[in-house]
Amino acid sequence: KEYAEISLKEINLLANSSFPLCMRHLFDKLKEDHHLKHGGRMQLAILLMGIGLKLDDALAFWKAEFSKKVGAERFDKEYAYGIRHNYGKEGKRTDYTPYSCQKIISSTPGIGDHHGCPYRHFSEENLRAALGKMGIGGRQMEDVMDKVRHRHYQLACTLTFEAIHNISCDSGINHPNQYFSESRKALQP
Ligand code: SF4
Repeated sequence: KEYAEISLKEINLLANSSFPLCMRHLFDKLKEDHHLKHGGRMQLAILLMGIGLKLDDALAFWKAEFSKKVGAERFDKEYAYGIRHNYGKEGKRTDYTPYSCQKIISSTPGIGDHHGCPYRHFSEENLRAALGKMGIGGRQMEDVMDKVRHRHYQLACTLTFEAIHNISCDSGINHPNQYFSESRKALQP
């Protein structure tokens, strides 16, 4: 599915308004640490590609963060290739499709990794804190946590979406990029 192009300027705003928790977490960690390990880089880079971030903007985005940690030169040498590769501009021109919820939920992030699905991979304490930052509280929080306890992670994400946007999402959330596009639709004036 194609999405309208998004620009580098919009990305902070969009992350705040329309990214599902898995993308938000990677985005926030990248901004905080100026680095993401391979699994997180892959998950976030192809999700950003999936929502319409063009290659030039993607390179500028990753470079701005990574440069603060490893320097611009090392970014160009070691990391730019990977981003271009995601966009099919290097190597075997593999067609990367942004990961579905199912694939993200079944991933196995290790220590120091930030990819995966927060509903599945966060501790209860961290998940509650992250949901609180998104404005979830009270009854809504308990409903989400109830789904998590029953291992219905996508339903927990759907409830979060519904609470934040104050609309029902009958199709349910099955892909981070779908969450994003549903959110854009809902917030459109
Ligand atoms: Fe991301 Fe899907 Fe998990 Fe929601 S359910 S946080 S969209 S992986």
